[in-house]
Amino acid sequence: MIDLHCHILPGIDDGAQNMDESLHMARVAVSEGIHQIVATPHHQNGRYTNEKEDIMKRVEVLNQKLDQEKIPLKILPGQESRIYGEIIQDYHLNKVLTLNNTTKYLFIEFPSNHVPRFTEQLLFNIQSEGITPIIVHPERNSRLLADPDILYNLVAKGALTQVTAASLTGQFGKKIKKFSFQLIESNLTHIIASDAHNTSSRRFCMAEAMNVIEKKYGLDFIYLFQENADAVINGKACFREQPDKVERKKFLGIF
Ligand code: FE
Repeated sequence: MIDLHCHILPGIDDGAQNMDESLHMARVAVSEGIHQIVATPHHQNGRYTNEKEDIMKRVEVLNQKLDQEKIPLKILPGQESRIYGEIIQDYHLNKVLTLNNTTKYLFIEFPSNHVPRFTEQLLFNIQSEGITPIIVHPERNSRLLADPDILYNLVAKGALTQVTAASLTGQFGKKIKKFSFQLIESNLTHIIASDAHNTSSRRFCMAEAMNVIEKKYGLDFIYLFQENADAVINGKACFREQPDKVERKKFLGIF
């Protein structure tokens, strides 16, 4: 299994704090059936700045360590950028990194409680560069929860989205769990990833989430999500269905 979103690089954000923690996360990942992880440290989120060159070097160091420890896991370079106006300039300045450095897919994080006004234009501009933006954890954004049509519009215009495994297993509460299922059912998400920061409060939950998906939707969906993760790291096209709007709750007893 491939995990496209993980804070496993040691000591550079609020994920693993040192090499020991990284190795512990790596062992847990392997036990869940993960064999490739895209390391996606935070960038420009108000607390952390992690640029391409530095991430690439640190990924190499961690891979060497995994080799020494005989842990069968491969780390690929990535980045989780908070949405900001200069993101395309910074991409051309080699500060912003696409997933696995293929120049095809870019993680975009929104602030947790709103969607900036310039989002639609910026996502359009990113796509004009030949890069597909992947909106990370839309299910945890309170603005999108309140108004899912905003997400529908962004997906209809070409963005992809990534739902967090732990959202599907209920770690972020009932509302977020329900919304995550609605996103799957409305073809509004294309990738499931862990966004793991550690092995306790923000753990992988990938094996558990895949079980939940298989029980609720069948194996087809497991293949779909896994094939899309594979497509992303190889810079190939993801599979996407026509998105639907998330259905609003109907009033009971009217009809
Ligand atoms: Fe993250």
